[in-house]
Amino acid sequence: MPKQIRCSFCGKTYKETGRMFHGIRDAYICPDCIELLHEILRIEPAARAKGEIKLQTPQEIKKELDKYVVGQEHAKKVLSVAVYNHYKRILSKTSRDVDIEKSNILMIGPTGVGKTYLVQTLAKILNVPLAIGDATALTEAGYVGEDVENLLVRLLQACNYDLKMAEMGIVYIDEIDKISRKSENPSITRDVSGEGVQQALLKIVEGDKVNVPPKGGRKHPEQAFIQVNTKNILFIGGGTFDGIENVVKYRIGKAAVGFNAPIKAQEDMRKYELLKLIEPEDLVKYGMIPELVGRFPVITPLHDLTEDDLVKILTEPKNALVKQYQELIKMDGVKLYFEADALHAIAKKALGLKTGARGLRGAMEDIMLDIMYRIPGLKGVKECIITRSVVENNEEPIFVYREKRRKAE
Ligand code: ADP
Repeated sequence: MPKQIRCSFCGKTYKETGRMFHGIRDAYICPDCIELLHEILRIEPAARAKGEIKLQTPQEIKKELDKYVVGQEHAKKVLSVAVYNHYKRILSKTSRDVDIEKSNILMIGPTGVGKTYLVQTLAKILNVPLAIGDATALTEAGYVGEDVENLLVRLLQACNYDLKMAEMGIVYIDEIDKISRKSENPSITRDVSGEGVQQALLKIVEGDKVNVPPKGGRKHPEQAFIQVNTKNILFIGGGTFDGIENVVKYRIGKAAVGFNAPIKAQEDMRKYELLKLIEPEDLVKYGMIPELVGRFPVITPLHDLTEDDLVKILTEPKNALVKQYQELIKMDGVKLYFEADALHAIAKKALGLKTGARGLRGAMEDIMLDIMYRIPGLKGVKECIITRSVVENNEEPIFVYREKRRKAE
């Protein structure tokens, strides 16, 4: 077979794939594409069967979010309404006189406070596919890095290539603030301004048909594409937007007292309160292109997590870390308890890391590793109590034995 023959689906050459099957006229298919299609045919019926969006009222959505996400009351409410409106609009069969605009959402807040987690939980509640991507990995076409279309590839993969489901899915773009115009990109091979990436993103967010290479990777001309209509895909952007509160403060100050004079009262305003006042023009000042800002009409801030919030995260949500460790240790026949002081000490440790709730897992692992290592080998232990000094000074936990309570040797 001549070496320059290409697969009509993915464009790979005979030389690359080693085998090629000939169809009618000039059609060819490579073994990889046969395998992929076979997989799609195998999985699709199952995916379709469970592919029903579960639309609930905003209050029901919020109540579900409450089971997993601590705090962030305002963001949860905003998201519940926006998501409800979005899917109500898509699922409604009645014709409308007014064209309702899509409510893509922008979440602004510190690291590790629940932005991604909120989106993941929402997708689960609604039973829609979700793709998560990092804006800093994206580049405009032709540069080293990921094409924005890969976000849609991930969405297709999340629902086993059920195009209908993917076209109603959610795409979460993390670190969207890092592609603002002023941002300095350390890689010289990549788009340095970030504006090119914003332009590329705009194309898929705008709601149009996008050609997507089914397996991802870079686009090339001979490749076969899946055409994805992004009109009903909900895009959610997230970012810390460091320092944007100053842009807001400056604008408010100017409006209140006149040019160039932020007033004192507003200077004292808490960052979160300022973030609540963000207007599209602030985002443009920050370096986002106006066209892209215009595509994210719903903006919601997220607040820093307090020590009390972190303690709640450790204990309250359905899959809270404490509950998980208790369940694990229970399998060894031992009841695990954390004293309230100990939980606060763990929360304090995590706060020190300045990575929000993300630090909790590490702090917890530090304490639990030794305990999980020893407990299966300890005979007669029925309870293990974690006190503050276990967390702060690496001291022994209290082991309660079946007959009497004493410290382990
Ligand atoms: P980011 O805001 O940077 O997107 P994530 O949502 O990824 O942060 O948070 C990291 C992890 O921390 C989550 O997977 C979750 O386990 C936990 N977490 C963060 N915020 C909360 C919260 N408000 N309630 C419960 N868990 C949280």
